[in-house]
Amino acid sequence: MTDFAANRQQVLSQIENICQKCKISDNKVTLLAVSKTQSAAVIRSMYAAGQRFFAENYLQEALSKQADLTDLAIEWHFIGQIQRNKTRDLASNFAWVHCVDRLMIAQRLSQHLAEQVEKGADDQPRLNICIQVNIDREDSKAGCLPEALAELVEHISVLPHLSLRGIMVIPELKHQDAFLRAQVLFESVRVQHRTPHDWDTLSMGMSADFADAIAAGSTMVRVGTALFGARTNLEKRID
Ligand SMILES: *Cc1c(COP(=O)(O)O)cnc(C)c1O
Repeated sequence: MTDFAANRQQVLSQIENICQKCKISDNKVTLLAVSKTQSAAVIRSMYAAGQRFFAENYLQEALSKQADLTDLAIEWHFIGQIQRNKTRDLASNFAWVHCVDRLMIAQRLSQHLAEQVEKGADDQPRLNICIQVNIDREDSKAGCLPEALAELVEHISVLPHLSLRGIMVIPELKHQDAFLRAQVLFESVRVQHRTPHDWDTLSMGMSADFADAIAAGSTMVRVGTALFGARTNLEKRID
């Protein structure tokens, strides 16, 4: 087995264990491989190990790797900060966008997809989106404040060509109760909003804390380091 395959097996069995412990069916939890700073060749190896869902943070970096990997059936997720002038590229190159935190961004994504449909792209799949919530109200973090979520859901859920799947959070380090608060918020939307039936995704948990996140109800964990090893190359924005 390659290192990547072994790492992936280990993460998957940790997910399975925590699911068993918490009596969650483990097909409820999706493992996203966070491949920022990793080369296309590395992604290809992880794909060969069975991984299909990959997440990227930086648009230009992602686009150049995607161009090298068009022969693979990868489902691409965008988990970085969204710049408003980049929404067109996001809409056409990703299956999921996790960090929508303003109505205007969702409107632009929806509009770009409408244009693609007009141009004759038939059976245009919907773009899956999550609303990022700044669950710990940190100045340094993106995301809407928890109390703003309900109104955003109301407006975004009616936009065409988008499938509003749930929320995404990045809690403060070692702030485990944030996972529980996020879960309560996620469920409260379901109850209050006759939400779209596709409201099924609570995106939370990274290498250091995905087990706690799953125990609190995460349905999608975003794991980089535990799969690929520490990111040695300096992370820098290139878009
Ligand atoms: C980098 C990143 C991750 C993965 O972090 P690891 O600690 O390497 O698992 C998850 N989510 C977001 C939003 C990230 O930027």
